[in-house]
Amino acid sequence: MKTIEDLDVTGKRVFVRADLNVPLSDGTITDDGRIRAVAPTIAKLVERGAKVVVASHLGRPKGEPDPQFSLAPVAVRLGEILGRSVSFAADTVGESAKATVAALADGEVTLLENLRFNAGETSKDDAERGAFADELAVLADLYVGDGFGAVHRKHASVYDLPARLPNAVGDLIATEVGVLKRLTEEVERPYVVVLGGSKVSDKVGVIDNLLGKADRILIGGGMAYTFLYALGHEVGLSLLQKDQVDTVLEYLERAKTNGVEFVLPVDVAVSGKFPDTKTHAPVEDFAVVDADAIPADKEGLDIGPKTRELFAEKLADAKTVFWNGPVGVFEHPAFAEGTKAVAQALLDSDAFTVVGGGDSAAAVRILGFDETKFGHISTGGGASLEYLEGKTLPGLAALEG
Ligand code: ADP
Ligand code: MG
Repeated sequence: MKTIEDLDVTGKRVFVRADLNVPLSDGTITDDGRIRAVAPTIAKLVERGAKVVVASHLGRPKGEPDPQFSLAPVAVRLGEILGRSVSFAADTVGESAKATVAALADGEVTLLENLRFNAGETSKDDAERGAFADELAVLADLYVGDGFGAVHRKHASVYDLPARLPNAVGDLIATEVGVLKRLTEEVERPYVVVLGGSKVSDKVGVIDNLLGKADRILIGGGMAYTFLYALGHEVGLSLLQKDQVDTVLEYLERAKTNGVEFVLPVDVAVSGKFPDTKTHAPVEDFAVVDADAIPADKEGLDIGPKTRELFAEKLADAKTVFWNGPVGVFEHPAFAEGTKAVAQALLDSDAFTVVGGGDSAAAVRILGFDETKFGHISTGGGASLEYLEGKTLPGLAALEG
């Protein structure tokens, strides 16, 4: 892989595929971590007199323009972080993009509109994706891949475009991959993994690989309920993936064989309905119940106090920790205690701590923790998981050549 230093960027149009997929609430950026993470790469290119064309996806628009997923607010914030003005193209490969890029002087930056406003970006059809990549390639002389959060996607701007331009890996991806190597190749033990979040099926796969690597696996968040169900417990209205029950049972079995300690919640915080994460309206029926006694009409939304203590104990002597996925619906204060406890336990340990996942990283910051106290906060959830699963990541493979 080439790095930015290997490219002669002065006076060249450099396409930077970033991951600026930040959480937005009514057009306001609630966590700008991903923008700050890629800013040093852009600043370096600016310094060296490149014409920088930044591009990203945001959310999941359906292959056509959708104002709620516009990157316009991100251009403003990126400008503030860089301390210079960042122009904004109202489309990706259309008239606006062409004109905005043509107007760039050396050392200037522009941000294109959401790549996913074009169906070619995420298309499964190689030709359709390739056609979009051809159009993007017209806008640049060089390509820098630095959208770590998207490298596991075989998308036009991630996979097809770097094949069309001289390319290099950006500083963010270089750092991220360095950290992940430390988790796979030279891990210091005990190695403890905490998994939570809501995307159960995305995360069950990584366990398969971790069963050969981790010493302890702590399960919280939505995934926990599939495990509890598999063990024969009632989980009420909690998140549940019945099709994963056999897999989960096999994992528990293999953990025993491999001497990997599996730690499930022993108590959970529940409510009869999903909390309002916008208004933070009080949860009238908040209750803590044992993990084997979830009422049929309740949903498990956080780990309980006994589990918080148990998890803290299991993290105390760790030398390496990988944490992906909030262990509760931290967006509502009533269900944020578990996630807070996990974050605190990471800080209290002497371990090299890695936090992966957009929501996990946002949780750490939103809950008021000092992010510099963690070993590394990754900008990519799915990407870091797939790396740990041992999969080939299209966006990294594309930069290899
Ligand atoms: P990440 O982005 O860190 O990879 P995910 O996207 O998988 O994490 O999941 C984050 C979401 O998981 C948060 O919005 C949180 O509210 C939700 N979550 C955590 N625990 C539960 C639970 N028990 N039930 C439903 N959702 C949950
Ligand atoms: Mg997420």
